[in-house]
Amino acid sequence: MKAAVLTGIKQIEIIDVPEPVLVSGSDVLLKVDMVGVCGSDVHYYTQGRIGTQSITYPYRIGHEFSGTVLETGARVSLLKPGDRVAVDPALSCGECDQCLAGRENTCRKIRFLGCPGELEGCLCERIVMPESCCVPIPADMTLGEGALVEPLSVGMYAVERLSGIEPGQTAGILGCGPIGLSVLLPLVNKSGIEKVFATDRIDCRHQLAGRHGACWTGNPDKKDITRSILQQEPNGLDMVFECCGQQEALDQAVEILKPGGKLLIIGIPEEKRISFPMDRIRKKELCIQNVRRQNEFVKPAINFIADGNDVNFMITHTFPLEETGKAFNLVAGYRDGVVKAMIKIDN
Ligand SMILES: [Zn+2]
Ligand SMILES: [Zn+2]
Repeated sequence: MKAAVLTGIKQIEIIDVPEPVLVSGSDVLLKVDMVGVCGSDVHYYTQGRIGTQSITYPYRIGHEFSGTVLETGARVSLLKPGDRVAVDPALSCGECDQCLAGRENTCRKIRFLGCPGELEGCLCERIVMPESCCVPIPADMTLGEGALVEPLSVGMYAVERLSGIEPGQTAGILGCGPIGLSVLLPLVNKSGIEKVFATDRIDCRHQLAGRHGACWTGNPDKKDITRSILQQEPNGLDMVFECCGQQEALDQAVEILKPGGKLLIIGIPEEKRISFPMDRIRKKELCIQNVRRQNEFVKPAINFIADGNDVNFMITHTFPLEETGKAFNLVAGYRDGVVKAMIKIDN
């Protein structure tokens, strides 16, 4: 079968690889239909690494996808050939202290698709996954929407599980790429959340947030967003979702949060270290919460889309597998108004 693999920094080749086969009775063979290009994939593409995890070439990335069941193992009971599924790309061990505590997303032995040293990714025609990672999507849901389930689940997990946001509270979203928008949609969908401020260095991205529920949006390269937000909310915001991995955004977050506020860090910085003005966060008694992907939010994300919430607007570009390199260049360059690029795999 064909696969798109990284063969060097900013190098992607389409090569032939062996067909995957069912190993365990609980495995499912999937035809890969749509693969989303994630910011983390682009980090691997441009840097060859994220933090301490670096690539040994050739290597296949990709973890956001929808697929169709082709074959099922003997013990698979809930899926049958032809079922369309959204896929949770995380395989946890189920036995470590973290798994037993219900924290599968920080499993000690986690294996994540397209994560170097763990599992090969899904930028290929077919892949084998455990049944437990595959969740059927409704008949009227598109395969593109199915591939958006993973990033949406990350945003929903941050909002619903970790933020603790309550009616009447205010929030900021710094960075309006797919993750920022995946935070925005469930946030503004909650009753009593009227004031969500969103920023991005690309105008069309923060404008998109404005069209989808943010009460105010701005570009930090063009205006003093800290001042603008504090003029509107002199006490500061209850929480800020950092969704871009930029030091400047973390600095802005510290300024626009009210004392006792909460900063949720979802973005992945390219640097190994980031910094905080200790004096400011200490005096404000800020709570800093890191977000590690998601935990148990695949089904809620599917339901969110099935309930009629529009997420399709995030898909701005679609490429065939052969043009994966083109897709990655587009996303890496933030060109042409790209939000989410998808690879559509026909075969
Ligand atoms: Zn992702
Ligand atoms: Zn575990």
